Amino acid sequence: VQELTYPNSPCGSATDMEAFWMPFTANRQFKANPRLFVAAKDMHYTTADGRQVLDGTAGLWCVNAGHCRVKIAEAVSRQVNTMDYAPAFQMGHPGAFQLADRLAKMLPGDLDHVFFANSGSEAVESALKIAIAYHRAKGDGTRQRLIGRERGYHGVNFGGISVGGIPTVRKFFGGLLTGVDHLPHTHSLEHNAFSKGQPAWGAHLADDLERIVALHDASNIAAVIVEPVAGSTGVLIPPVGYLQRLREICDKYGILLIFDEVITGFGRLGAPFAADYFGVLPDMITVAKGITNGTVPMGAVFVRKHIYDAFMHGPENAIELFHGYTYSGHPVACAAALATLDVYEEDGLFQRANDLSGYWQDALHSLKGLPHVIDVRNLGLVGGIELESIPGRPTARAFDVFVRAYEQGLLIRTTGDIIALSPPLMIEKRHIDQMVSMLTDLLKATA
Ligand code: PLP
Repeated sequence: VQELTYPNSPCGSATDMEAFWMPFTANRQFKANPRLFVAAKDMHYTTADGRQVLDGTAGLWCVNAGHCRVKIAEAVSRQVNTMDYAPAFQMGHPGAFQLADRLAKMLPGDLDHVFFANSGSEAVESALKIAIAYHRAKGDGTRQRLIGRERGYHGVNFGGISVGGIPTVRKFFGGLLTGVDHLPHTHSLEHNAFSKGQPAWGAHLADDLERIVALHDASNIAAVIVEPVAGSTGVLIPPVGYLQRLREICDKYGILLIFDEVITGFGRLGAPFAADYFGVLPDMITVAKGITNGTVPMGAVFVRKHIYDAFMHGPENAIELFHGYTYSGHPVACAAALATLDVYEEDGLFQRANDLSGYWQDALHSLKGLPHVIDVRNLGLVGGIELESIPGRPTARAFDVFVRAYEQGLLIRTTGDIIALSPPLMIEKRHIDQMVSMLTDLLKATA
């Protein structure tokens, strides 16, 4: 067996990096040439070799308030030292109730109950299970089919990859959950390239739900799950009227509508949630990431009153939903989330994202015309720059930009040949200028 060596490893001896099987990463390529962060503050990371890197992606779409916010760190530290853990089943602690209550007050409409999980993937599984169990609780036990969308990403667990629409993620296991259909995605360069904000073309694509209903009958369909803005599959902005149309069709047939707001939640679009931004009230919202500013893992499902109420029948000593996690509403995560909500509020970060979105839009669209740029799209503080793929080598061009950006001091994220940008909401105009000027140079030098 040939021993792998990692000459550039900053972790000590050459093979110290071998044991960690990195997620969603080209392990051998990475370990041969590692990119390690060792510290972070506000808008910047510090690399292992002591360089500052401007965070253009809020970590992984999660550090919305910027890095190492003192208030959040102190709240976490206090909680760890007061009570590390409390059992989540048949026991409670005040933080979980305070957080749920605070979130319920922040949420639109009658989204007024919160089920806690530990990640976006778990939030999605929880929401899908709640949807099926809700219909059963109402005596509609045949409503079990779930409808997702092409190019959707809902985490990596079995339910999520089944309703998700990423072929590379689905091809190994995504067929195990049967009873799933997919709406078409809404991305069209032909009609919508270089749209500013929401594209005009494509609301009619929601009507495909009528076809699925005609095929299976509404009495067999539990829920539709979509990301209001798809992030992981390359920043796909919903066409004007599309989400409204989905809501109408779901209402017409008694189908629950779930918004997966793992990336759009907590201010990313310049409103608390995408549901607020688009003025569309789903039956459930899944969140994670920004709920704790990325400090401690946490996910949640926000549920409308009629759904929660449907479960609150039967003997009072009976468990209403046989679902939950050891760490549902973990005290440390709750402390982090409560402090995070304070910081969002005190710094007016959602409003800030809204105020900056016009400047952000203009800055990003200045990249139009650079080599290989075939689309620029934006909404709130989200940006997508699509590059033409090198024939026969999809992903190579964008990945090359990603590596060179990192080397020059900018963190971007790439998916396929699309650059996705989602900076902390504390970003200033000078950071936007810096990002765009670096990207301009990088793209000019792209082969
Ligand atoms: N749903 C959406 C829309 C996401 O963007 C993500 C992660 O990027 C997830 C779910 C999964 O979240 P996690 O990685 O926390 O499981």
